[in-house]
Amino acid sequence: MKIYNNHSLDNSLNIKSVSKFFIEINNQDDFNDLYDFIKKEKLPVLIVGEGTNLVLPDKFNGIAVKPIFNEIIINKNNTVSAGASVNWHKLVLNMIDNNIYGFENLSLIPGSVGAAPIQNIGAYGQEISNLIKEIYCYDYNSDDFIKYSKNQCKFTYRDSLFKNSNKIIYKVVFNSNNPKLLNFEYESIKNFINNNNVNSSELRLSEVSNLICNIRNKNLPNPNIIPNAGSFFKNAIVKKDLIRTDVFPIKDLIVWDLDDQYSKIGTARLIELIKDKLPYNKNVGLYKNHNLVLVTNSNASQDDVLNYAHQIKDIVFDTFNIMLEIEPQVVIN
Ligand SMILES: Cc1cc2nc3c(=O)[nH]c(=O)nc-3n(C[C@H](O)[C@H](O)[C@H](O)COP(=O)(O)OP(=O)(O)OC[C@H]3O[C@@H](n4cnc5c(N)ncnc54)[C@H](O)[C@@H]3O)c2cc1C
Repeated sequence: MKIYNNHSLDNSLNIKSVSKFFIEINNQDDFNDLYDFIKKEKLPVLIVGEGTNLVLPDKFNGIAVKPIFNEIIINKNNTVSAGASVNWHKLVLNMIDNNIYGFENLSLIPGSVGAAPIQNIGAYGQEISNLIKEIYCYDYNSDDFIKYSKNQCKFTYRDSLFKNSNKIIYKVVFNSNNPKLLNFEYESIKNFINNNNVNSSELRLSEVSNLICNIRNKNLPNPNIIPNAGSFFKNAIVKKDLIRTDVFPIKDLIVWDLDDQYSKIGTARLIELIKDKLPYNKNVGLYKNHNLVLVTNSNASQDDVLNYAHQIKDIVFDTFNIMLEIEPQVVIN
């Protein structure tokens, strides 16, 4: 285990942030030393991956822990094991090279394998929970190593048992014998196929992955060029009859009915409808091609980002009676 003092925390919003302690964990034995360190220091703990879903304070007065486990192993029993620090897209490409189906629609999602189950990453009609067999973690409160089967992980939309828990994921095991079927059902995939005269029946796995990358590159900013944390708000799940419709009629919104009462509402459209009312902010704004994505100019603080997000939340609430929920983890000082 390596301990650094006052170490900067990389994050895709490019907020300048420093952690009092930063600890790298390189093998399972290190977890016992980590347990002793946390007990001794009695400070808050933050697990970090690649920092693409974090809104950090300028000073985190705690212990940032980075698990570094970077092996991908294709096992004989129709599974693949991947260490927490493997880059997610690198794993997707590896699966495609090995003709393993199911990962292709999740191409180019930024971040690490260890963070991916936390919010059950998903895109283009696929979620990581459909691919997982089991997860290995260490609980730094109880000093226990625990293996969770997929059904124990409580995966739902952008959520799991691991969110805001004391568990450090160090290995994820995936099924590798998924059905050899491609999923083109998502609206933007269908549009891309139609608009570009793609013959979808002849696409190979690698071509599907490229297609997804093309769609993403058109809609989402590359965090290495324009700082952002992906979708800043979750789609809202609300009772349909409580939505305010006197300012904008319901037909202006994007509504996916979940059952008789509840619907999922496309948050990007809500923001599109109110964005003219947002005050100008010199450090934070909305991405020109995607209203759900907050971008910064690398000079924004956590306060700048959160103030802007709260202005959006307030205007959306006043206009639609819908309370938005922030998707990335906001780290408290
Ligand atoms: C441009 C862009 C596009 C994106 N598109 C999508 C998308 O399509 N779908 C989607 O679902 N998300 C998307 N995201 C969000 C992001 O990619 C995911 O949340 C990703 O899983 C974050 O990985 P990370 O390694 O950067 O995690 P971090 O940002 O470092 O951490 C995120 C959370 O996971 C926890 N964590 C990290 N590693 C571990 C670990 N090993 N054990 C336990 N907890 C851990 C952290 O404490 C924190 O709560 C996007 C982000 C960006 C910037």
